[in-house]
Amino acid sequence: MEYSFIQSIFSGELISNLQCLNCKKITKTVEQFSALSLELPEIKKQGFFKQFLNNQKQSITLKECLDYFYEPVIDSLTLCSCGTRSGKRQYSFQQQSNLLCIHLQRFQNKNQKDKKHVSFPIKDHNFQEYFNLENEQNYRLFGIVVHLHDLGGDHFETILKYKNSQFLSIKDEIIQIVSQNYVEECEALLLFYEKVDNQIDQFKASLRKNLQNQHKMIVNQELQLKDEELCYLPHFWYEQFLYLAKPPQIITSHLICPHNLLKPDYWDFRIEYENAKSVQQNSQLDSNTSFTTIGEVQNPNSPVNMEESSAQKQLQLTSIIIPKAVCEFLIEKYGGGPIIEKNIKTCSACTENAQQMSRRRKLERQLIIKYENLQGYDRIFVIHEEWLKKWQTYLYNSKSILQKNNLFGYPPPGEITNYLLLDKDQQIIQQKKEGQQFLMITAPIWHILQEIYGGGPSISINPHQQQYEPFKLQMDDQLLTKELKTLYQNCINQYKCEIQQ
Ligand SMILES: [Zn+2]
Ligand SMILES: [Zn+2]
Repeated sequence: MEYSFIQSIFSGELISNLQCLNCKKITKTVEQFSALSLELPEIKKQGFFKQFLNNQKQSITLKECLDYFYEPVIDSLTLCSCGTRSGKRQYSFQQQSNLLCIHLQRFQNKNQKDKKHVSFPIKDHNFQEYFNLENEQNYRLFGIVVHLHDLGGDHFETILKYKNSQFLSIKDEIIQIVSQNYVEECEALLLFYEKVDNQIDQFKASLRKNLQNQHKMIVNQELQLKDEELCYLPHFWYEQFLYLAKPPQIITSHLICPHNLLKPDYWDFRIEYENAKSVQQNSQLDSNTSFTTIGEVQNPNSPVNMEESSAQKQLQLTSIIIPKAVCEFLIEKYGGGPIIEKNIKTCSACTENAQQMSRRRKLERQLIIKYENLQGYDRIFVIHEEWLKKWQTYLYNSKSILQKNNLFGYPPPGEITNYLLLDKDQQIIQQKKEGQQFLMITAPIWHILQEIYGGGPSISINPHQQQYEPFKLQMDDQLLTKELKTLYQNCINQYKCEIQQ
């Protein structure tokens, strides 16, 4: 799973209980949330006199919004196994987040903002009743986003907790200290709470201090340990450990490759790639026919082995160095891992694989371009649109996906899935339409794709029974297609490794 910093501090879990109104079956599902979005209930009708007393302000409480959120709603979309689409859905909390973001839905009605006042706890507050918890759980307000309804568009004000229970209001360039009364009266759109320890945890407090000291001593070289006694601790975790009530797991697995080494990043791969290209150019090979170079073993004196890799530099920028023994203890206590030792090497095999895949993709793209607009062939072959899309994303990986800790890019598309377009009589299912569920391609392209990826079957639509010359690839391209097919198999195996991790 991809790791997200925001997710790790803002996410909590809800349990949705859906009871079918027909067969009464209850389906439980866990839903992740990173912000709790609450509808604002109507203000309860009051007697004339009470209404008169309260008339100064139309107000509801945050607790009322949450109670409204827990009320069961009718779900007429989800299909039950008994065939009914009518159930009663109700939410409860499974896990609270370290930082709780509450969104008050003031724009349910697009044309009109719901301006009713919602009162919310400002000082440390026990949310036990708010979340129907078994134990006490305190939260502290630390920020508010207010939507200001100026003429001519949206405008926002941020209110932040400041020292000595004061608050700061930030409106563009105007920053000022505001009273608690000001905060109470504001028309909040987003509320930010942080979880606070119910009692001061002596053990955690001393652990924090200890870790801070050790880190400082290593930085100042007062504590000198050998490289093999040191390891990296992700900075994001360190910060959360120092400031949040419940630090998450120490997630490092996304940094390690299937060979248990440091995963190279996009830039390591890029350097290798440029290097290899210049070697190729020096030997005067035509890139169109140089498929034999794909399998070439990399130069053992590659920069990845010689100096610090980009992945290593990144690791240094985003981690602190602590003694390995301390890290082992922290991982045992908070979960996660594995340990990343200070002298970890960047994996050159992974760089080579990524590079090979990239070259393979390039050769396939060149082959397609060569035959795409070949004269004398019309688009009479059907191809499943969904498969073609997967193939496209696989073949044309964007730079951003490669940079995002995903050196191998999008996964391969698998066998051609044209059979999904056919009914049991091998005819195209009536509802499947050209331009929607399938597209048309020429014989050369169909030939190449089926040769490389397999699957099928071959479906052609030729209403005027036009005659075409039988298509055959040029000899060297036939070899190239075979090579691409073999390399494709290697590529699939790489993905299997990556996924098993
Ligand atoms: Zn049912
Ligand atoms: Zn590796």
